[in-house]
Amino acid sequence: MQETYSAGSSIVSQCTKCKISLDHTVVAMAGEVVAKVKCRTCGSTHKFRDPAAVKKPRVSRKKSTEPPASALWQACLAQARGKELVYAMTGRYRVGDILIHDKFGKGVVRKLAMNKCHVVFEDKERLMASAN
Ligand SMILES: [Zn+2]
Repeated sequence: MQETYSAGSSIVSQCTKCKISLDHTVVAMAGEVVAKVKCRTCGSTHKFRDPAAVKKPRVSRKKSTEPPASALWQACLAQARGKELVYAMTGRYRVGDILIHDKFGKGVVRKLAMNKCHVVFEDKERLMASAN
């Protein structure tokens, strides 16, 4: 059985002013339905809003199709089979080598290109000059 309310009953409603669920007093009924309530906290009269029916605002999670570089970097480091090498523009590298860059830190060679290699560092992937 549903609880029945009448003007003067106390009811918990979402307060449109306080933005939270609070004790309200029923002011007006529309048949069986509570129509208007008065907030006992701020005193404002507004439509009854069932707290259970009030949708919580969706937490918008930033969705990006690409994984963050640091996650990729960690995955690449974990899979890297190559040697740890100090990066130099004249170096020759292979996919999977770990490069130590004096500025960017540790990177992993992901792809080779003509005289360049794609290296994933913790913050982002960079195209580095090499002797490949
Ligand atoms: Zn209120």
